[in-house]
Order: sequence, then structure tokens, then C-alpha cells
Amino acid sequence: MDYFKKVNQAVPSFDERVGYELKTKNEIDTLQLNITRTCNLSCKHCHLSCHPNRTEDMSQDVANKCIDLLKSYNFKTVDITGGAPEMSGVFKYLVEESTKLGKNVMIRSNLTIYNDEKYKDIPIFLKNHKVDIIASLPFYEKDKTDKMRGLGVFEDSIRVLRRLNDLGYARDPNLNLNLVYNPSGAIIPQAEQELEAIYRTKLLEEYGIVFNDLFVITNSPIGNFGKWLDKSNNLDRYMKRLYNAFNDKIVDDVMCRSTLSVDYDGNLHDCDFNLSLGMGIRSKNKNIFEITAKDLEKRPIATANHCYSCTAGAGSS
Ligand code: SF4
Ligand code: SF4
Repeated sequence: MDYFKKVNQAVPSFDERVGYELKTKNEIDTLQLNITRTCNLSCKHCHLSCHPNRTEDMSQDVANKCIDLLKSYNFKTVDITGGAPEMSGVFKYLVEESTKLGKNVMIRSNLTIYNDEKYKDIPIFLKNHKVDIIASLPFYEKDKTDKMRGLGVFEDSIRVLRRLNDLGYARDPNLNLNLVYNPSGAIIPQAEQELEAIYRTKLLEEYGIVFNDLFVITNSPIGNFGKWLDKSNNLDRYMKRLYNAFNDKIVDDVMCRSTLSVDYDGNLHDCDFNLSLGMGIRSKNKNIFEITAKDLEKRPIATANHCYSCTAGAGSS
């Protein structure tokens, strides 16, 4: 049986547990752009199974349509992700055009890409455009980080974090540097505040590094991580943990309620997880070349049992 069928059979359905049809808010404020599947890393928890040999990349035509959409609809934030978004041919274009339109621009970075000669100029480019950086650092210690992301990744990340601090990131109020933690096994992360305090102390005392906020992510049981859960016989246990940790107080704030996610090929999704599963938006038009203002009105969200990772415990940032 395919692992995703097991995700949906392990516990009662997410829709039943929520008890009503989950819908977007009246206004969607974030346009998320997933512009490439290429990445210099190949992490075992990657929900999009990205790696250096993947070639899917957003075309200039799709990028132009994204900018047209930003001009015609009042998104406040543009969230650029991948893969390693910096490796995409349209990365700089999207940052430049989005900032010209006055949008808050954030990018999701694995940090290590900035050690590559070809991408060494990107931190200064980001600083000049006042782009917020959301940087993955799965743990504040070398062993756990390297186990998840590959040998040497922790030290490479620390080197880049120091460089970002030197450029003013997390020191200048206009240059935000947020870190992302996600656990390495079939567990639900501890509370954000406790973990943030530990990260802050460890990174400052041991490496002289500062950051703004720590975002805690619960791994979604899909992609590489879903397959690993299945293969290691952890899938059932993990789904039960997510189900038992369901917190109805955070359902209103799950990110799909205020986000539209565009894939590299222009297909539209409620979030990056649905994008990874190929679950399109529940609207007549499902691609950026077809979208109308009506598609952005309040609409039902496509849900399944992977959604339990967004509602477990204190929620997933
Ligand atoms: S999790 Fe991030 S850094 Fe790791 S392979 Fe996927 S996109 Fe790359
Ligand atoms: S997985 Fe996506 S659709 Fe499901 S609750 Fe989370 S953000 Fe919403």
C-alpha cells in the first residue's frame, strides 16, 4: 500500500476531527512561490524530495504571471521557497520585482548554499532588498544537524550565520533572520518558547550568533519523511501521536487559510505540503495562467490526514 493511503487510514479523518469545512479567510495575504526542486542538499526529511540532480525550475513566463498577480491582488507578503530558491533562474527577478511593488519579501534558505562561489553574492543582494531570511537549522548541535542534512552542514551553516550577522542580519531592525527547527525522528517538537531560549543561549555562547525568532516545524508525514516513516514502521505511531496532540485552538491559524502557493509550473495549491502531494486548490481554475479574482475569494481548502502535522501541540509555524 502506498504510504499516503496509510497516512489517511491510520487515524480518523482530519475533516471529521475538525468538525467543519476548513475555508480560506476573506483575504489571502501571502503569495508563496515554490520556484525550484533543485537543492544543493538532499535531506532525509525533505517533503519535496529535492536534491542536486532535480531540474524543475520556474520559467520566466510563470514568474511574469506571478508578478502580474501581485500587481492585481493585494498580497502583503511574498514567500519564496524551493528547493534552494537561490538556485533558480528567476530568483533575483522575483525578489527585485516584488520589492519594487512594496511587498514584504521572505526567502527560505538552507544557508549552506551561500558558501558556494556561484551564490556568494546573494546575502548582499538580500540585504540590499531588505529581504527576510527564514533559515533552516534543524538543531543547535553539530551531530544531529549533520545526521539530518549531511556531513559538514552544521559548520557550513554556522559560517554563513556569522556572515549574515556581520552584514547586519538580526542586528538591524530591517534585516530579519529567523531560524527553523524541525525534529529528526517520529516525534512532535517541544514548545517553541523553551526551544527558542535554548537555541539563543547555545548559538550566542558557543558561536557568537544572534537571530530574531525561532520557528518550530512539525514534520509532515509526506515526501521523504513519509516514506521513511513507512519503511521504518513508524508511520502508524507517528500519525497516532499527531492525532492525540490535535489542538482545536490553532485550527483557525493554519497557514493555508491566508496563503496561496504557486508551484514552479504555475499550478496553485493551498500550501507547500499540498503542493508536494499534487493536491490543487478546490476551485475551477487551478493554474496561474487561468486564475481570476473569484478563485481568490473564500473557498474550501483541500485537506487530508497530513494536515494533523499543522494542528499538533502548539502548531507548526
Ligand atoms: S529540506 Fe530544504 S535544504 Fe533539505 S533538501 Fe529539501 S529543500 Fe533542500
Ligand atoms: S497541510 Fe496545508 S492544507 Fe493542511 S492544514 Fe496544513 S497548511 Fe492547511
